[in-house]
Amino acid sequence: MVRKTLIAGNWKMNGLQEDGVALAKGVALEAKKRARKDCEFLVCPPFTLLTSVKKALKGSRVMLGAQDCHYAASGAHTGDVSPVMLKDLGCQYVIVGHSERRTNHYETNELVAKKASAAIEAGLKVIICIGETEAERDAGKTIDVCSAQIMGSVPENATAANTVIAYEPVWAIGTGRTPTANEVEDVHAAIRKVISKKLGRANANKMRILYGGSMKPSNAKELLALPDVDGGLIGGASLKVADFMAIAAACPTLTK
Ligand code: PEP
Repeated sequence: MVRKTLIAGNWKMNGLQEDGVALAKGVALEAKKRARKDCEFLVCPPFTLLTSVKKALKGSRVMLGAQDCHYAASGAHTGDVSPVMLKDLGCQYVIVGHSERRTNHYETNELVAKKASAAIEAGLKVIICIGETEAERDAGKTIDVCSAQIMGSVPENATAANTVIAYEPVWAIGTGRTPTANEVEDVHAAIRKVISKKLGRANANKMRILYGGSMKPSNAKELLALPDVDGGLIGGASLKVADFMAIAAACPTLTK
């Protein structure tokens, strides 16, 4: 019993001040009222909402994270935000290597590893996203692609205490489609083996591996029950308090 379930919301580029604060307050209230105490909650709003969401979450059990960071601590990087700044603002987590960044911003494994390493150095925990495209899946390359992403995107200073992996098949994100439960478990188990190769068995056994990609109240129970699924990274369904909390409530066990 070493891996505590993490229910994480990736709000992506959604929310103005008023609705972002309302969503954060709603999650904080429901987390206090209903959810079982030993599951962890995290919300990752866009940069523009971090300060106001931090205030809205004050005193609650819901943690704050960002969706990306630069690898440098400061300097001439127009438009970027550093991990040191995120830590200073009160973030506990940062997501790196989301497929939307890998695709839309041409982020490589090497860059993701640099960002993750710098974030850990700054005292943040990282959620490192990996996952195959539909073409890669159709070509039977899912495990190879995910293994290469783990080997290339997880930095040397990663441990089970500072790093979470999110397996997000690119074709499942925002589409309503998901792999079968068996397929998800197979990939998660394979990911754990690669982590063991890279960071040792103790880290692999303790490191949380989240599933992401169209997780919703109707499929959360089956996915979260899988032995190597330690929570969810939730996009669309994290924008509604009721759906986000229904996913958390569907979680059959709190530690694995
Ligand atoms: C995501 O992009 O991290 C994600 C899981 O999105 P969705 O839940 O909307 O598929």
